[in-house]
Order: sequence, then structure tokens, then C-alpha cells
Amino acid sequence: MADEMIRVTAANGGIRAVGITGKGFVEEARQRHKLSAVGSAALGQAMIATLLLASSMKTPQARVSLQIMGDGPLGKVFADAGADGTVRGFVKNPHVEIPLTDSNGLDVGQAIGHNGFLCVIRDEGIGIPYTSTVELASGEVGQAVAHYLFTSEQTPSVVLVGVHVNSEGIEAAGGALLQLMPQEAENNTLIDLLEERVRNFHGFSRLLREGSSPAQILVNMLEGLHPEVLPEVKPLRFACPCSLDRVLSALRMLSIAELREMMEKDGGAEVVCQFCGKVYHIDRFDLGKIIMNMEAR
Ligand SMILES: [Zn+2]
Repeated sequence: MADEMIRVTAANGGIRAVGITGKGFVEEARQRHKLSAVGSAALGQAMIATLLLASSMKTPQARVSLQIMGDGPLGKVFADAGADGTVRGFVKNPHVEIPLTDSNGLDVGQAIGHNGFLCVIRDEGIGIPYTSTVELASGEVGQAVAHYLFTSEQTPSVVLVGVHVNSEGIEAAGGALLQLMPQEAENNTLIDLLEERVRNFHGFSRLLREGSSPAQILVNMLEGLHPEVLPEVKPLRFACPCSLDRVLSALRMLSIAELREMMEKDGGAEVVCQFCGKVYHIDRFDLGKIIMNMEAR
């Protein structure tokens, strides 16, 4: 199944739903950051949730970033995604492993921690980005993001995210967002119906693992409400805009003394992009050139 985003409407446009498959980009993040199993699940869920948030942005250049600062051993979890379908992210402590749950599952909630904050920045690429921070309602990413959407954006939403990891890597990953459109926000019959469907729905990642597509899962969930899968499909991929030029610009922010020390003591500089894990090697000649240019100023 390719990494992609699909949209479904139901109840005469009163319900908007988005579905995501993301095995490829979660596996890429796992390999780039050498993530542990629970680290892969946590970051994968955060990347999927961020793409779900980005699905409602209006401009093509829009981006959304999500930071979860919990008190668990993983430390900060960061993801950022664009309306163009690109996504990247990292966790502060990528190698953390924790004991499995009673049902042999990965305990993402424990790894993230149940106390802390969730911060979302929505940037349409025009005007001032919109930043909002809420208390972490739970270490579960889906619940935390749904809580954010309700308290901060006043949109009752269901957020489902699932990442299944086996000994080889990512076996399945995906997510879904269901929201009532503003005109239906007071429609209690529809709210109750949606809540009941979600309560009786179990195992998003299990269904993905068994080969169901997010479109099939959403259509089943919305049965009887005339669900319609829209024809537009958006491809998704891991991408980071870092480059050698950006790394060199960052080095120019250091002092001449610091650069000289790197050149003399380390014979160059090794810079690792925090977002994608790419390693940039800057040799002593390039460092020398930067120093010369700084001295000439
Ligand atoms: Zn990068």
C-alpha cells in the first residue's frame, strides 16, 4: 500500500474524514534515526497526526508542526508536515525501550508520559503562524491531538493513529481523522451516532495490518451515513529541506574562535540534521574558507 491520503465525506457533507497510510515514511524515519520499537511507534503516530492536522490547511505552502513534551523517557517528540504531503520528525531519545503492555503491545503512552504539553503551530505561509499549547490529556497521541482540536480549535474530532512494529521494522502504519463540519456542530443526533461508532470500533492498526485500506475502514465506520470516497489521492513522503548551504550558513553563526578550534582539534566539523538524521561532513578547507570570509568582513 503506497503512502497516501484520501478523503471521505458522509451525512450530506456534515462529516469530513481523512485517511492516511504511512508505512513507508514511518519506516524511513525509523531507519534514519535508528529508532527503537516504541520510538518508531511514537514518532510514527506523531507524524501521521501532523499530516492529519495539515489536511485542513488552506494554502499549498502551508505547514503544521506538532511538539509533544511529555515526562516519559522518550523526551520531546516533534513532527512537521506540509499541505504538500511531506513530513519529517524526531524524538529526543530515539533508542529508549520500555517494557511491553500486558497485551504485548508497545506502551507509547508510557514512553511519551502522561503529563506535559502539546504544542501545535499552524503556518499558512502568509501572515503570522497560529500557535497553541494545551496540557497533555494523555500520552496517547490520538487522544492528545483530539483533545487539542476540541479545546483549542473547538472542533469535536476523532483522531485514530496506529503504527505496528515487528522485528523487521514497520509492519503497518496509518491514521484517520473524523470531524463534524461547523454547520453540524450542534447536531446532537449526529454527534451521538459518531461517538457510538467510534466506541464500537477497535483496532485501527490491526485492520491496516490485515490489509484493509483507510478508505475501507472509514466507509465501514460510516456505514448508513452515505459515505463517499473522494477521487483525489495525495501521495505522502518523508522529506527534509536541509542542505549543505543551510549547514554552512549555520556554521557562519559561530565565532571565529569556535570555528578555528573545530578546524585544529577535529580537522573539520560533522553536523547532523536533527530532523532527518543526515550527516554533513565539513572539511578543514571549507572551514578555513568560512573563517577567511569572516575575517575579511
Ligand atoms: Zn534534514
